[in-house]
Amino acid sequence: MRVLLAVVFGLATCQIALLLTTLYLHRALSHRALSLSPGVAFACRVLVWISTGVRPRQWVAVHRKHHAFTDVEGDPHSPLLEGFSMVQFLNFVLYRRVARQEEVVRKYARDLPADAWDRRLFDHALLGLGIGFALFVLVLGWEMALVAAAVHAVSYLLLNAAINAIGHSWGRRPYPNIATNNQWLAFLTMGEGLHNNHHAAPTSARLSLARRELDPGWWVIATLQRLGWAKVRHTEVKLARPKASAAA
Ligand SMILES: [Zn+2]
Ligand SMILES: [Zn+2]
Repeated sequence: MRVLLAVVFGLATCQIALLLTTLYLHRALSHRALSLSPGVAFACRVLVWISTGVRPRQWVAVHRKHHAFTDVEGDPHSPLLEGFSMVQFLNFVLYRRVARQEEVVRKYARDLPADAWDRRLFDHALLGLGIGFALFVLVLGWEMALVAAAVHAVSYLLLNAAINAIGHSWGRRPYPNIATNNQWLAFLTMGEGLHNNHHAAPTSARLSLARRELDPGWWVIATLQRLGWAKVRHTEVKLARPKASAAA
Protein backbone atom coordinates (compact mmCIF):
# COMPACT_ATOMS: atom_id res chain seq x y z
CA MET A 1 0.00 0.00 0.00
CA ARG A 2 2.80 2.41 0.89
CA VAL A 3 4.59 1.54 -2.34
CA LEU A 4 1.41 2.23 -4.33
CA LEU A 5 1.07 5.61 -2.62
CA ALA A 6 4.70 6.41 -3.47
CA VAL A 7 4.15 5.45 -7.13
CA VAL A 8 1.03 7.65 -7.34
CA PHE A 9 2.98 10.48 -5.68
CA GLY A 10 5.81 10.09 -8.21
CA LEU A 11 3.40 10.07 -11.17
CA ALA A 12 1.55 13.13 -9.84
CA THR A 13 4.84 15.01 -9.43
CA CYS A 14 5.76 14.01 -12.99
CA GLN A 15 2.49 15.49 -14.29
CA ILE A 16 3.13 18.74 -12.40
CA ALA A 17 6.65 18.87 -13.88
CA LEU A 18 5.26 18.22 -17.38
CA LEU A 19 2.72 21.03 -16.87
CA LEU A 20 5.53 23.39 -15.82
CA THR A 21 7.57 22.26 -18.82
CA THR A 22 4.86 22.89 -21.41
CA LEU A 23 3.39 26.01 -19.79
CA TYR A 24 6.51 27.81 -18.63
CA LEU A 25 9.60 26.46 -20.41
CA HIS A 26 7.92 25.72 -23.73
CA ARG A 27 4.91 27.91 -24.46
CA ALA A 28 5.80 30.98 -22.33
CA LEU A 29 9.61 31.22 -22.46
CA SER A 30 10.59 29.45 -25.71
CA HIS A 31 7.79 30.71 -27.96
CA ARG A 32 6.41 33.71 -26.03
CA ALA A 33 2.95 32.32 -26.84
CA LEU A 34 1.74 33.67 -23.52
CA SER A 35 3.05 35.83 -20.73
CA LEU A 36 2.66 34.95 -17.06
CA SER A 37 2.20 37.37 -14.19
CA PRO A 38 5.49 37.93 -12.27
CA GLY A 39 4.26 35.91 -9.27
CA VAL A 40 3.19 32.90 -11.35
CA ALA A 41 6.39 33.07 -13.44
CA PHE A 42 8.55 33.07 -10.31
CA ALA A 43 6.58 30.18 -8.79
CA CYS A 44 7.12 28.23 -12.04
CA ARG A 45 10.84 29.02 -11.90
CA VAL A 46 11.14 27.67 -8.36
CA LEU A 47 9.03 24.58 -9.09
CA VAL A 48 10.97 23.76 -12.29
CA TRP A 49 14.17 24.01 -10.24
CA ILE A 50 13.06 21.63 -7.48
CA SER A 51 11.19 19.16 -9.71
CA THR A 52 13.54 18.92 -12.73
CA GLY A 53 16.79 20.84 -12.08
CA VAL A 54 16.44 22.26 -15.60
CA ARG A 55 17.99 25.67 -16.27
CA PRO A 56 15.32 27.52 -18.27
CA ARG A 57 17.72 29.35 -20.62
CA GLN A 58 19.38 26.04 -21.56
CA TRP A 59 16.03 24.31 -22.20
CA VAL A 60 14.87 27.27 -24.28
CA ALA A 61 18.09 27.30 -26.35
CA VAL A 62 17.96 23.56 -27.08
CA HIS A 63 14.29 23.81 -28.00
CA ARG A 64 14.64 26.84 -30.26
CA LYS A 65 17.52 25.08 -32.03
CA HIS A 66 15.17 22.11 -32.57
CA HIS A 67 12.70 24.44 -34.32
CA ALA A 68 15.49 26.07 -36.36
CA PHE A 69 16.86 22.70 -37.60
CA THR A 70 13.89 20.33 -37.34
CA ASP A 71 15.05 16.84 -38.36
CA VAL A 72 18.01 18.17 -40.34
CA GLU A 73 21.70 18.48 -39.39
CA GLY A 74 21.83 20.64 -36.24
CA ASP A 75 18.63 19.29 -34.62
CA PRO A 76 19.60 18.43 -31.02
CA HIS A 77 17.29 15.39 -30.79
CA SER A 78 16.03 14.12 -34.13
CA PRO A 79 14.97 10.44 -34.33
CA LEU A 80 15.69 10.62 -38.06
CA LEU A 81 19.33 11.56 -37.44
CA GLU A 82 20.05 9.85 -34.11
CA GLY A 83 17.74 6.83 -34.34
CA PHE A 84 14.45 6.33 -32.51
CA SER A 85 15.84 4.43 -29.50
CA MET A 86 18.57 6.98 -28.87
CA VAL A 87 16.02 9.82 -28.63
CA GLN A 88 13.37 7.82 -26.75
CA PHE A 89 15.70 6.36 -24.12
CA LEU A 90 18.70 8.70 -24.01
CA ASN A 91 17.11 12.05 -24.84
CA PHE A 92 18.67 13.57 -21.72
CA VAL A 93 22.17 12.74 -23.05
CA LEU A 94 21.39 14.52 -26.33
CA TYR A 95 19.85 17.42 -24.39
CA ARG A 96 22.86 17.88 -22.14
CA ARG A 97 25.26 17.71 -25.06
CA VAL A 98 23.70 20.86 -26.56
CA ALA A 99 22.59 22.57 -23.32
CA ARG A 100 26.22 22.68 -22.17
CA GLN A 101 27.37 24.58 -25.27
CA GLU A 102 27.56 28.16 -24.04
CA GLU A 103 27.62 29.64 -27.54
CA VAL A 104 24.35 27.83 -28.36
CA VAL A 105 22.70 29.17 -25.19
CA ARG A 106 24.01 32.67 -25.92
CA LYS A 107 22.72 32.55 -29.50
CA TYR A 108 19.29 30.98 -28.94
CA ALA A 109 18.38 32.31 -25.48
CA ARG A 110 19.85 35.81 -25.57
CA ASP A 111 16.59 37.13 -24.09
CA LEU A 112 17.17 35.05 -20.94
CA PRO A 113 20.58 36.03 -19.55
CA ALA A 114 21.53 34.59 -16.17
CA ASP A 115 20.55 36.93 -13.33
CA ALA A 116 21.47 37.05 -9.63
CA TRP A 117 18.77 34.47 -8.77
CA ASP A 118 20.29 32.08 -11.30
CA ARG A 119 23.82 32.55 -10.00
CA ARG A 120 22.81 32.08 -6.36
CA LEU A 121 20.11 29.43 -6.66
CA PHE A 122 18.64 28.22 -9.92
CA ASP A 123 21.92 27.32 -11.66
CA HIS A 124 22.59 24.84 -8.86
CA ALA A 125 20.52 21.93 -10.14
CA LEU A 126 21.56 19.48 -7.43
CA LEU A 127 20.53 21.91 -4.70
CA GLY A 128 17.08 22.29 -6.28
CA LEU A 129 16.63 18.55 -6.75
CA GLY A 130 17.87 18.01 -3.19
CA ILE A 131 15.18 20.37 -1.85
CA GLY A 132 12.57 18.54 -3.96
CA PHE A 133 13.74 15.20 -2.60
CA ALA A 134 13.72 16.52 0.99
CA LEU A 135 10.05 17.45 0.51
CA PHE A 136 9.37 13.88 -0.66
CA VAL A 137 11.12 12.58 2.49
CA LEU A 138 9.05 14.86 4.74
CA VAL A 139 5.81 13.49 3.27
CA LEU A 140 6.71 9.87 2.57
CA GLY A 141 9.75 8.96 4.64
CA TRP A 142 13.13 7.90 3.26
CA GLU A 143 12.37 4.61 1.54
CA MET A 144 9.15 5.63 -0.15
CA ALA A 145 10.69 8.96 -1.11
CA LEU A 146 13.29 7.02 -3.09
CA VAL A 147 10.52 5.07 -4.87
CA ALA A 148 8.54 8.25 -5.67
CA ALA A 149 11.66 10.08 -6.90
CA ALA A 150 12.63 7.17 -9.16
CA VAL A 151 9.09 6.96 -10.62
CA HIS A 152 9.03 10.72 -11.18
CA ALA A 153 12.49 10.87 -12.77
CA VAL A 154 11.98 7.90 -15.13
CA SER A 155 8.45 8.89 -16.22
CA TYR A 156 9.40 12.56 -16.72
CA LEU A 157 12.45 11.70 -18.83
CA LEU A 158 10.62 9.07 -20.92
CA LEU A 159 7.53 11.21 -21.57
CA ASN A 160 9.55 14.28 -22.55
CA ALA A 161 11.62 12.04 -24.80
CA ALA A 162 8.47 10.57 -26.34
CA ILE A 163 7.45 14.02 -27.59
CA ASN A 164 10.74 14.22 -29.49
CA ALA A 165 10.87 10.56 -30.56
CA ILE A 166 7.26 9.37 -31.13
CA GLY A 167 6.20 12.94 -31.95
CA HIS A 168 8.56 12.91 -34.93
CA SER A 169 7.91 9.32 -36.02
CA TRP A 170 4.32 8.04 -35.77
CA GLY A 171 0.93 9.68 -35.69
CA ARG A 172 -1.31 11.99 -37.69
CA ARG A 173 0.06 14.81 -39.80
CA PRO A 174 -2.80 17.22 -40.53
CA TYR A 175 -0.29 19.99 -41.35
CA PRO A 176 2.62 19.71 -43.80
CA ASN A 177 5.49 19.22 -41.36
CA ILE A 178 7.40 16.16 -40.17
CA ALA A 179 6.09 16.15 -36.57
CA THR A 180 3.04 14.09 -35.59
CA ASN A 181 -0.12 14.33 -33.49
CA ASN A 182 -0.88 11.58 -30.96
CA GLN A 183 -3.84 12.36 -28.71
CA TRP A 184 -2.94 9.55 -26.26
CA LEU A 185 0.50 11.11 -25.83
CA ALA A 186 -1.09 14.54 -25.44
CA PHE A 187 -3.12 13.21 -22.49
CA LEU A 188 0.09 11.97 -20.86
CA THR A 189 2.11 15.16 -21.56
CA MET A 190 -0.29 18.04 -20.87
CA GLY A 191 -0.99 18.51 -24.58
CA GLU A 192 2.52 18.22 -26.01
CA GLY A 193 1.59 15.10 -27.97
CA LEU A 194 -0.17 17.38 -30.50
CA HIS A 195 3.29 18.05 -31.86
CA ASN A 196 2.36 18.35 -35.56
CA ASN A 197 0.01 21.19 -34.61
CA HIS A 198 2.79 22.79 -32.58
CA HIS A 199 5.30 22.78 -35.44
CA ALA A 200 2.56 24.20 -37.69
CA ALA A 201 1.74 27.03 -35.26
CA PRO A 202 4.65 27.44 -32.80
CA THR A 203 3.39 30.74 -31.34
CA SER A 204 -0.04 29.35 -30.52
CA ALA A 205 -0.59 28.94 -26.76
CA ARG A 206 -3.23 26.31 -27.58
CA LEU A 207 -1.96 23.08 -29.13
CA SER A 208 -5.39 21.65 -30.01
CA LEU A 209 -6.35 23.13 -33.37
CA ALA A 210 -9.20 20.89 -34.52
CA ARG A 211 -12.43 19.63 -33.02
CA ARG A 212 -11.96 16.54 -30.91
CA GLU A 213 -8.32 17.41 -30.16
CA LEU A 214 -7.78 17.95 -26.45
CA ASP A 215 -4.94 19.91 -24.86
CA PRO A 216 -4.98 19.73 -21.03
CA GLY A 217 -2.20 22.36 -20.83
CA TRP A 218 -4.51 24.82 -22.59
CA TRP A 219 -7.23 24.25 -19.98
CA VAL A 220 -4.77 25.40 -17.33
CA ILE A 221 -3.74 28.43 -19.42
CA ALA A 222 -7.39 29.38 -19.98
CA THR A 223 -7.99 29.19 -16.21
CA LEU A 224 -4.90 31.30 -15.46
CA GLN A 225 -6.10 33.80 -18.04
CA ARG A 226 -9.52 34.06 -16.41
CA LEU A 227 -7.77 34.72 -13.08
CA GLY A 228 -5.71 37.48 -14.72
CA TRP A 229 -2.44 35.57 -14.16
CA ALA A 230 -1.66 34.84 -17.82
CA LYS A 231 -2.08 36.64 -21.13
CA VAL A 232 -2.17 34.81 -24.44
CA ARG A 233 -0.26 36.63 -27.20
CA HIS A 234 -2.31 35.62 -30.27
CA THR A 235 -6.02 35.04 -30.09
CA GLU A 236 -5.96 33.83 -33.71
CA VAL A 237 -3.83 30.79 -34.54
CA LYS A 238 -0.91 31.81 -36.77
CA LEU A 239 0.31 29.02 -39.02
CA ALA A 240 4.06 29.05 -39.74
CA ARG A 241 5.12 28.70 -43.34
CA PRO A 242 6.15 25.06 -43.96
CA LYS A 243 9.90 24.60 -44.35
CA ALA A 244 11.31 23.33 -47.61
CA SER A 245 12.76 20.33 -45.75
CA ALA A 246 9.45 19.34 -44.14
CA ALA A 247 7.81 16.09 -45.19
CA ALA A 248 4.72 16.33 -47.33
ZN1 LIG B 1 9.52 18.82 -32.65
ZN1 LIG C 1 8.26 24.42 -29.57
